[in-house]
Amino acid sequence: MPLRPLAVPLADALGCVTSVALTAEEAVPPWANSAVDGFAVRSADVAAAPVSLPVIGTIPAGAPPEPAVGPGQAVRILTGAPLPPGADAVVMVEDTDVWDGRSGREAVGSSGVGTVEVRKPVAVGANVRSAGDDIAAGQTVFGPGTVLGPGHLGVLASIGVRKVPVFPRARVGVLSTGDELVDGPEPLRPGQIRDSNRRTLLALVAEANATPVDLGHARDDEAAVRGALRAGLERCDAILTSGGVSVGDFDFVKVVLDELSGGSFTWMQVAIRPAKPLAFGVVDGTPVFGLPGNPVSSMVSFELFARPALRHMMGHTDAGRPQVVAVADEALRRRPDGKLHLARAVARWGSDGRVHVRPLAGQASHHLHAMAEANALCLVGDGDGLEAGSDVTTLLLANPLP
Ligand code: AMP
Ligand code: MG
Repeated sequence: MPLRPLAVPLADALGCVTSVALTAEEAVPPWANSAVDGFAVRSADVAAAPVSLPVIGTIPAGAPPEPAVGPGQAVRILTGAPLPPGADAVVMVEDTDVWDGRSGREAVGSSGVGTVEVRKPVAVGANVRSAGDDIAAGQTVFGPGTVLGPGHLGVLASIGVRKVPVFPRARVGVLSTGDELVDGPEPLRPGQIRDSNRRTLLALVAEANATPVDLGHARDDEAAVRGALRAGLERCDAILTSGGVSVGDFDFVKVVLDELSGGSFTWMQVAIRPAKPLAFGVVDGTPVFGLPGNPVSSMVSFELFARPALRHMMGHTDAGRPQVVAVADEALRRRPDGKLHLARAVARWGSDGRVHVRPLAGQASHHLHAMAEANALCLVGDGDGLEAGSDVTTLLLANPLP
């Protein structure tokens, strides 16, 4: 279920999804203005160009639209300045001569008055941006379900919107579990490893436009896991744990999540590689994803299971990462094992306009370095794999390289 919509300041709305249609209360531009630096005139007065007109004033951007242009007169105007009454067109400065040929002096000086020679006629409306020609007052600017990008935020700012109704960012807690994990910089003792999953998962949450909440790491101990989860449930819309879900694990995560969810937690062995073990359940309305501990597995399960759910909570209607049928530039070897393999690969645009993929060396579930270099997961079905040159359905985690 999507989170309850909220009006958030524009400054916080990048990447959020609108919950309702948004209507402009102001027109953009708010008034007719000049698209160029030049001279505001009456088109009829320059129909017989070249003609000389007296320049009776200057309107810079930000100034009121005065003086008015009378018959046979011109007003110097700068880009974005309001069109003065009486004028119906602007001659661009490149089509004029502001130098006095006889004296060699500038005919329109800093005082802004003098004479201009218009070399070409202009049509009514030339170089004028009319009021509302970008956005009309009363117009629906964006429908519900719009993902707000930089341009959308600019449009909303241009019509005076300060807060925008969107599905808020999900606050997503990330908890690591395991007695072997170390947080600090101290040297590792035998049996210890550094906690990498938390850093990765917090970053994946942020990249999904959700708000990461660091829940630290819990030891393989029922009370520690229960305490960390309870604290997370109080302030998060969703929780990701890593570790402690595989077969043969010390069962602390399982025991606690079963208890907290009233026995509604599901423990799965998904027929994929990596990322086979997965747990999912809802605790008091908060979804909790029990991701596997192996670093690549936790990233892949985040991509396949957690990310689409989090995006759904934040109002996104797309299914997630884009899928393309890519060309395998190298063979994608595997052994039959009844599972779908997700090979970590580098995807590039080929000169044929298609995406080409190459598998990375290091396809085991602890090979985080290869995963870090991957921008694609190739879906290799059960069997002996694919020959070089084959088509392979590929999930793009980022844009293909050029
Ligand atoms: P588990 O699912 O707890 O059995 O963990 C599977 C593997 O992932 C083990 O080799 C763990 O040491 C490793 N692992 C678990 N949690 C983390 C973590 N936060 N960072 C790095 N490796 C981890
Ligand atoms: Mg563990």
